[in-house]
Amino acid sequence: MASLEPVVAANPGVLEGLDNYRNLVAAQQPTWPDQAALEEVRQTLAKYPPLVFAGEVDILKDRISQAAQGKAFLLQGGDCAETFVDATADRIRNRVKTLLQMAVVLTYGASMPVIKMGRMAGQFAKPRSSDIETREGLTLPAYRGDAVNGYDFTAEARNPDPKRLLQAYNTSSSTLNLIRAFTMGGFADLRSVHEWNKGFIDNPANSRYETMAKDIDRAIKFMAACGANFNELRTTEFYTSHEGLLFDYERPMTRIDSRTGTPYDTSAHFIWIGERTRQLDGAHVDFLSRVRNPLGVKLGPNTSVDDVMALIEKLDPNHEPGRLTFITRMGAGKIREALPKLVEAVRDAGFTPLWITDPMHGNGITTANGYKSRRFDDVMNEVRGFFEVHRDLGTFPGGVHVELTGDDVAECLGGSEHIDEITLESRYESLCDPRLNHSQSLELAFLVAEELAAR
Ligand code: PEP
Ligand code: MN
Repeated sequence: MASLEPVVAANPGVLEGLDNYRNLVAAQQPTWPDQAALEEVRQTLAKYPPLVFAGEVDILKDRISQAAQGKAFLLQGGDCAETFVDATADRIRNRVKTLLQMAVVLTYGASMPVIKMGRMAGQFAKPRSSDIETREGLTLPAYRGDAVNGYDFTAEARNPDPKRLLQAYNTSSSTLNLIRAFTMGGFADLRSVHEWNKGFIDNPANSRYETMAKDIDRAIKFMAACGANFNELRTTEFYTSHEGLLFDYERPMTRIDSRTGTPYDTSAHFIWIGERTRQLDGAHVDFLSRVRNPLGVKLGPNTSVDDVMALIEKLDPNHEPGRLTFITRMGAGKIREALPKLVEAVRDAGFTPLWITDPMHGNGITTANGYKSRRFDDVMNEVRGFFEVHRDLGTFPGGVHVELTGDDVAECLGGSEHIDEITLESRYESLCDPRLNHSQSLELAFLVAEELAAR
């Protein structure tokens, strides 16, 4: 990505193509009150350095193609919505540690390389079911994520402010810097497998992890005594991802790679298209079809075979290995019915996208005391259903996409700590969807590892 001068380096027609989304319907965009301020922000963003490099993005695509062939597993997790105030060292470290722990559970349990990917360093924009929110007679714009407006229910906070896009960039940049430091600077060394469990409160999932970590430790020491060289264990690859939602962020962050003259969205390694913005003739599908990053698409329970086939043709017309990941979010009660026909049709057409499960977004409930929650049992049930469907069809269940935090919150019900509705009242922090806490995340990883090993 040597060139920051897209006009010079782009292949003919590329830049016009990137702006074609402007001619299409773009769902879920904020109504920015000040267009001049917005334009200034877009120009500023376009001059900022890329957050990721094209070469890294290509390596990730290669890793995902391995997973699509059944030779690796994708672990993708993080907040529903990151916030600026929570981009602190402690919270970022806890999330990275949780993902590293989950990855080691999976790698050890299933003897399979795990691709680690955060919903981190850019997950600042949210699609909403309504443009507005009314409380006690007052109607204001809905909260659309920290990249757009503030969560407080005041006219001032809810007014979309384009300067927040710059803060989203800066917060992503510092978050990514810390992730890179943790994962490249020795913290992620597999010989620290015990360290990652420190600082979390004791619970059954932690103890199970401790036992496994002891086995790994012993194995490493044994291999070291045999003279093995462990340079490979010192660092780990860690990729970033978010929903590609806001054109006023993603377009300025899209740069032409000087090696190939092709565009990469440099705001993250992996970008996904949400369930609400995957219209075949819509702006999101068009725009993202033109960048080279590996892409995800969320698929809800009403997805048709035709939709899936058309998405493949639009987003991956050359059937490039690693390009396309389908993230299914059907709901525990629907996955066994809704998923098989999609996977079967794609398999029979000879295509091999990566299939991963998001067991969160189809399982939302509202509790009697008014919290947006999810039952841990439903989450686990959807994961089991996902494995069952792929087992029946002979296809590979290639990954899991979860909303989680390393912090000791109570947002999802159940798990080995038996979180109940009353507990939500004391430890619910998410501004958006409920996340698995640290011990629920580990428990989920153990289940997935068992399912993978039993395939
Ligand atoms: C999300 O991932 O937070 C989200 C909004 O998901 P979906 O598009 O699947 O509803
Ligand atoms: Mn969510």
